Amino acid sequence: MRIESAPNPEIMTDASCELCISPGGEVLWDDGFARVALIGDADHPAYCRVILNAHRKEMTDLSEVERQRLMKTVFVVEHALRELLEPEKINLASFGNLVPHLHWHVIPRFADDPHYPNSVFGSRQRDGVRALPAEFVRSMRQRLSGLLEKKN
Ligand SMILES: [Zn+2]
Repeated sequence: MRIESAPNPEIMTDASCELCISPGGEVLWDDGFARVALIGDADHPAYCRVILNAHRKEMTDLSEVERQRLMKTVFVVEHALRELLEPEKINLASFGNLVPHLHWHVIPRFADDPHYPNSVFGSRQRDGVRALPAEFVRSMRQRLSGLLEKKN
């Protein structure tokens, strides 16, 4: 699926916003419009966030083309995580109550992960964390580069 390129939303930043002033994790991809960051969650090491670079609060603050572009990035991350990790389920979520800057959580879930089948914010079910495969970060970067067009 290719989506017409759209101008980046005017980059607005909020000096008090965590996602405006910090990358929000180890950046795996950034095309100027949005970035993909591995957040470094101890219980869910492959937990990624897709973060709009501009400070916008809601999906409906974006144009339709921008919304499609952001969701395309979310789905590409989902696809890459499924290929690399074969999770039981992918959890997608957008909250932003504490950080009102558009971002999507893309969380691969495993039947033996610490919270399954609860949400990652739910009560803990067990200890032990499945290690990421060797070269996970490099493999994710390669897949994201292959699946998302570069926009300079
Ligand atoms: Zn922000």
